[in-house]
Amino acid sequence: MNIAILSGKGGTGKTTISTNLAVMAGGNYIDCDVEEPNGFIFLNPSDLKKEEVKVDYPVINDNNCTLCGDCAKVCQFNALVRTKKNIILFDKLCHSCHACKIVCKYEAISFKKREIGIIEEGKYNNIICKRGILNIGEPMAVPVIKDVLKDLPNGINFIDCAPGTSCNVVNSLSYADGAILVTEPSAFGLHDLNMAVNLVRNFHIPFGVIINKYNPKDNRIQKYCQKENIKILGTINYSRKVAETYSSGKMIIEIEEYKKAFKEIVKNLKEVFPWN
Ligand code: SF4
Ligand code: SF4
Repeated sequence: MNIAILSGKGGTGKTTISTNLAVMAGGNYIDCDVEEPNGFIFLNPSDLKKEEVKVDYPVINDNNCTLCGDCAKVCQFNALVRTKKNIILFDKLCHSCHACKIVCKYEAISFKKREIGIIEEGKYNNIICKRGILNIGEPMAVPVIKDVLKDLPNGINFIDCAPGTSCNVVNSLSYADGAILVTEPSAFGLHDLNMAVNLVRNFHIPFGVIINKYNPKDNRIQKYCQKENIKILGTINYSRKVAETYSSGKMIIEIEEYKKAFKEIVKNLKEVFPWN
């Protein structure tokens, strides 16, 4: 079973929740926040294996090319431009769709591969930890996300998604059987939770909410969840101790009070996503 963990906005503590939850539930940790994959800072997995992620890009054979311009016309991403002398490729705009090769009548297009990121996989105790890392300056995260998610291990996988509701999150959600939405009690937290709820509802999968940085004096998230009939899976209290533990790269389940809170969340998770 794959459970996506997402948050409408960045900074809600999605990675803190994902890593601590994976360890408490004995599930695997899959980091799909490929532009900023920092879950390994806390888990520090051993026996790391690395694999490159590569994408196709077209190469024009100038000897065969008649400069007809059909390839540039068909490219939906403006990755090819015809000049008076040649066809120019903007490789970072290319989505590797191969349409240019299909329309070329002169066999002037072939494909090569270039590296855009890497996949790392290792172990933290008995759990498998996997993450994608997008190379700096690369604009397209989706091929790396797809590579991370294509061969997931057996058992329960906690997928740490990118923040927001962009296509990076949509791609991760398409592999999920359920979702956990992490939020915080603030005006932005509520606004962006609503966006995340609207997105997840399109996937028709079970989901629930975890309120991080919980403040008992602020019940705006509870009111919203009650109105929308959404289950609250648990709350993680706001405290300076958590911030200090997190900042030193430690798991917050090392603090007894928070270990109990995560145990309770795992119990609630099993009601919403029955995986046993
Ligand atoms: S479609 Fe083929 S022949 Fe025409 S411009 Fe492109 S590469 Fe050259
Ligand atoms: S492979 Fe697709 S996206 Fe890339 S240059 Fe060709 S038509 Fe454009």
